[in-house]
Order: sequence, then C-alpha cells, then structure tokens
Amino acid sequence: MGIIEKMRLDGKKAFVTGGARGIGKSVATALAEAGADIAIVDMDMPEAEKTAKWMAGETGRDIFAIKCDVTSPEDVNAMTDAILARFGRIDVAFCNAGICINVPADEMTFEQWKKVIDVNLTGVFLTAQAAGKVMLKQGSGSIINTASMSAHIVNVPQPQCAYNASKAGVIQLTKSMAIEWAKKGVRVNSISPGYIGTELILAAPHLTALIEEWNKIAPMGRLGRPDELQAIVVYLAGDASSFTTGSDFVVDGAFTCF
Ligand code: NDP
Repeated sequence: MGIIEKMRLDGKKAFVTGGARGIGKSVATALAEAGADIAIVDMDMPEAEKTAKWMAGETGRDIFAIKCDVTSPEDVNAMTDAILARFGRIDVAFCNAGICINVPADEMTFEQWKKVIDVNLTGVFLTAQAAGKVMLKQGSGSIINTASMSAHIVNVPQPQCAYNASKAGVIQLTKSMAIEWAKKGVRVNSISPGYIGTELILAAPHLTALIEEWNKIAPMGRLGRPDELQAIVVYLAGDASSFTTGSDFVVDGAFTCF
C-alpha cells in the first residue's frame, strides 16, 4: 500500500470531543475528508448539530452530533452507546474538549481548579478509556488526545496553573495508556498545539489583549490556525502511523524552542 493510500481513512468510524467548533471542528472536517464517518461530541448541542449538518454537506460522510459533557461518566457511556448503535465500531477517537481559566495560583478557588482538571484531564481519561474499551475488543484503534504546549512550558504573562498541570497530565496519561495497550492493537498519542486562533482565545477579551504580546516572542510572529493541526491528526488516526504510539507532537511554530 502506498503512503497516500495509508493516509486515507475510508470506512473508519471516529468521534471528536469539542467537535462543534475550533480545533475539534477543523480536525473532524479533515478526518471526514480523508474518508471517516464522524460523531461530533460536544456540550453545545445546537452548535454541534449545525457543525454536523455542514460537515456532512461538505464531505458526503455520515456525520451526527451527540450531546455529552466529557466530565460525566454517564454521559460518556451514553455517547459510546450512541456511536456503537450508529456506526457499530470506533476506529479513531480525538479526545480534544478543553477549557482554560486564568487566575493566579494564590487566588484560584477549589472550584476553578477542579473545573479545569475535570474537563481537561478527567474528560480525556473518560473518553479515551471509553474508546479504548471498544478498541481493545476490536483489536485495533487510534486515540489522539489534545494536550498543549502548556504541558511543556509555562505560558506568560497570563496565570494558568490548573491548565498547565492538566495538560502535562494528558501527556503522561497518553503514554500510560499507550504502554498498557501497545500489544493489543490500540495506539494512543497526543498533540501539543501552540496558540491557535479559536474562540478559546478570540472570545476571551483578557486573552485577545495578549495576542500582540505573544506574537512579539513567537518565532513565526503569529497564532496558528486550526487547519494547521489537521494533517498531524489524520496521520495519527490511520495506518501511516502504525509504529507511532505514546508520542506527543508539538505543533507550535517553534514557540517552545527557547
Ligand atoms: P474552543 O473553546 O474553541 O472549543 C472547545 C469546545 O469544547 C467547545 O465547543 C466547548 O463547548 C467544548 N467543551 C468544553 N467543555 C466541554 C465538556 N465538558 N464536554 C464536552 N465538550 C466541551 O477551544 P479550542 O478549539 O481552542 O480547544 C480545543 C482543545 O485544544 C482544548 O483541549 C484546548 O485546551 C486545546 N488547545 C487549544 C489551544 C489554543 O490556543 N486554542 C492551544 C493548545 C491547546 P462549549 O461551547 O459548550 O463550552
């Protein structure tokens, strides 16, 4: 099989959490363009349904929306049931939903800390575990978790200790699952994006104000775009990456190089 053929995902069944918008939406579109059918998993059901309808029209694939809070084990079980009822299997899981709260460590409330850890780390655990259980029975599957460059560096000047800790946790969780499942056909990798122009940043006035400051120190002098993360996830999802597991892929325009 040639490399272009190996990059195709024809017939594969995938889910993408946080798929309604931003990085999730962009990556889900790429997975569908490569041939996969997709479950768009998000808390925001109207937006998820809008995205699913648009994506089905653009790609001709079977795309549907599922409302799910990734911090809820019950929701995640219901998500798995809905995907298996529709698709019969899960080949690719992009566990991507995440949030950020910027508060100094000495002022952060227990609730703020717990919220970030719950969504970013526990949410990835629950959704990757759910996918893993199905994939282990199948004997095949690829899980890709969204970490962040914040797993590798401490961003400045905004204070975001819970976010940074949660993302570092995602990388070790990824490596742990990768080792446990390596001989069973299930691969687990993570991506660590740099600053990407999505609502996570663009809809938060306190962060928008910092873009100029970040761009001054960014080697490429700009934010990344969600579509600049598409190829790495398509690669990790399919047979082209068959010997790749337990790895983290930094895609940050060299932001973490110094
Ligand atoms: P967005 O805020 O644009 O999109 C995140 C999506 O996740 C939203 O649709 C949101 O729904 C959904 N979501 C939030 N909480 C939950 C939950 N508990 N259950 C299910 N869905 C949920 O973010 P991005 O696309 O920018 O970020 C995607 C991932 O990439 C995150 O993990 C983020 O930490 C990571 N990342 C982002 C970077 C960036 O610069 N943008 C850089 C590095 C990593 P709702 O609208 O209802 O909240």
